[in-house]
Amino acid sequence: MELNYLGIICTINIFNKVWTMNYKYLSIALALGSTMVWAQTAEIGTWAGFRKGAASFTFDDGAPSHVTDAGPMFKKYGYKATFNLVVNWNPNWSGFQGLADEGHEIASHSNTHGQNMSGEEASSKKAIEGKIKQKYGIITVAYPNCNVPNESAVKQNYIVGRICNGSWKGMGDEMGKDGPSNWAQVPATMTGAEGQLKSTNDFTGRMQKVIQSNGWAAFLTHGFQGKQNGNANYSPTDINAIDGALKWAQQNDKDIWVAPMGHVAMYLKERKASKAEVSSSGGNITVKLTHNIADNISKYDYPLSLRVKYDGSKAEVKQGDAKLESKIDGGYVYFDAVPNAGDIVISGEGGGPTPTSSSATEPTSSANPTSSATEASSSSRSHHRSSSSIEPGLSSATEALPMHTIDASHVVAYVDNNGYITVQNAQGMSITVFNSLGSVVRTTKGIGMLQKVYSGAKGMYVVKVGNRAWSMNIK
Ligand SMILES: [Zn+2]
Repeated sequence: MELNYLGIICTINIFNKVWTMNYKYLSIALALGSTMVWAQTAEIGTWAGFRKGAASFTFDDGAPSHVTDAGPMFKKYGYKATFNLVVNWNPNWSGFQGLADEGHEIASHSNTHGQNMSGEEASSKKAIEGKIKQKYGIITVAYPNCNVPNESAVKQNYIVGRICNGSWKGMGDEMGKDGPSNWAQVPATMTGAEGQLKSTNDFTGRMQKVIQSNGWAAFLTHGFQGKQNGNANYSPTDINAIDGALKWAQQNDKDIWVAPMGHVAMYLKERKASKAEVSSSGGNITVKLTHNIADNISKYDYPLSLRVKYDGSKAEVKQGDAKLESKIDGGYVYFDAVPNAGDIVISGEGGGPTPTSSSATEPTSSANPTSSATEASSSSRSHHRSSSSIEPGLSSATEALPMHTIDASHVVAYVDNNGYITVQNAQGMSITVFNSLGSVVRTTKGIGMLQKVYSGAKGMYVVKVGNRAWSMNIK
């Protein structure tokens, strides 16, 4: 739940009846004019970075081209995908380990790819975990031939069981902000020759749809037309269609969150289970962000994006010893924090905290579409806490940059009229965008004469291309 008043049971007296109320009825109590005192709560973004919608790209059958073609394509845009492997097809384990090391999710697609994978739920997970090392282990599974196996075995071993098109089972192809009705039947839309999504416009149409609905779309791709696909020869997809989709996503990054299926699922489950209680004293605001999800499958420590009402002009946000990236916008301070990882303390100068007022309306990500300072690509997000130790300030950000030897004398970088950090003449070169805290918010490669590389929150950024760096201000 995004907005809650947990722990506060209001008892009010109306018409000589005593009503015991929980937060769900708070708005009724307000309408009746009762007076209550309650704690402000922090709002949790529907999706990471308070983006409006989420999209997950999943790839089945462990094609050689997933390593040689999909990996570099996603790297170009700084996005991560999910790769579902079939154990007995002996995929390129070291190649997929390389993708895992870059922050992609490796997942199960059974041992044998039989008609139904019942009986292979636990064993395929174990087998892949013996080959692939990644932070959360193997936490999602895609069913071969779209057939749902033993659901309870799925739920004992995975946080997501993926089917194919929801519309093939009388459901929608996209999910709403609350996710699937059954986590053992998470829909993903088939792409390619036999699928519904063939062109870039097909993909971007689905992403626009979930931006409108605050929902979540997943895509299911096998191999690519004209590439080395091994056993992934069903319904080949034009890789340029996905390239165009990722390019569009990057240009709309403030609205669409592209992340692996398991990471989006973790965020969603944590968001729905977490409470974020706020208290204030001595000019500091303390947020307790907690949930009690059992961590028998996944640790459920994916960072959630929060905002707290704040009328100061500066803020420092810390969780334990870690300094969190934060920004102030529109009367809120925004930051990402890990649930159950200790108190979050907001301190600052200026107006100080405003902990006594709060809206009873449920926040939506569209409430503040411009806020995305706490955004980061999933790779930088996963390194959030370690990178956050860099001292703030542009000079330290610049000093933290790795040395490059590529000549960038012809490169031009600027903020365009629409607030995009834009780079010219950087074809083939690595581009890195740092925020004012020195954390990486975007890594990509130059792909065209003129490239929009980042549209984030207002504030100062450093763009590094080759051996040159620019500081610039998104207004
Ligand atoms: Zn398959």
